[in-house]
Amino acid sequence: MAERELHCDTCDGVQLFEAPPCVDGHGSHCPELLCTRCGTAVLTPALPRHPRRDRRHPTPHAA
Ligand SMILES: [Zn+2]
Ligand SMILES: [Zn+2]
Repeated sequence: MAERELHCDTCDGVQLFEAPPCVDGHGSHCPELLCTRCGTAVLTPALPRHPRRDRRHPTPHAA
């Protein structure tokens, strides 16, 4: 199962988050993670496998 270290606002620090059993049909792509310490749910903006750090060059789209 996917586990990540993220900042938890409730714990006010970095905690280990794990993916809960998804009931919305996302499967392994479920963006929801639960804090293993307090159980707060967070939504990840990007999947752990695809970290997006190079967004300095937004691709212009022709109208
Ligand atoms: Zn889900
Ligand atoms: Zn927490």
